[in-house]
Amino acid sequence: MGYRDEWFKHNPSDHGWYTCAACGKKIRKADVDVDHIVPQKYGGSDRLFNLQCLCKHCNRSKQASMKDTVPDLFKTNGKRAVRGVKNGLTNIAKKVLKRK
Ligand SMILES: [Zn+2]
Repeated sequence: MGYRDEWFKHNPSDHGWYTCAACGKKIRKADVDVDHIVPQKYGGSDRLFNLQCLCKHCNRSKQASMKDTVPDLFKTNGKRAVRGVKNGLTNIAKKVLKRK
């Protein structure tokens, strides 16, 4: 089973609606991007703790803003980033999303 299916299995919809983890918008399943909080190319896991529901708009802006912020994050604050991965990384992801 792919990580997307795995995420949906553990995150039932609210009467067919999902909530974007970044902007809080309610979205339909077809509009959900199951996002790797730490991207796979930076060693992010396919496990649930590294997955979040984003709307397409937020996922696109995250990908744009992550181009240089994530390597910076790991370089300057590697230990905290690693601990964050274990804790689900939501706070670091939020910081990354805020940095433009
Ligand atoms: Zn969003």
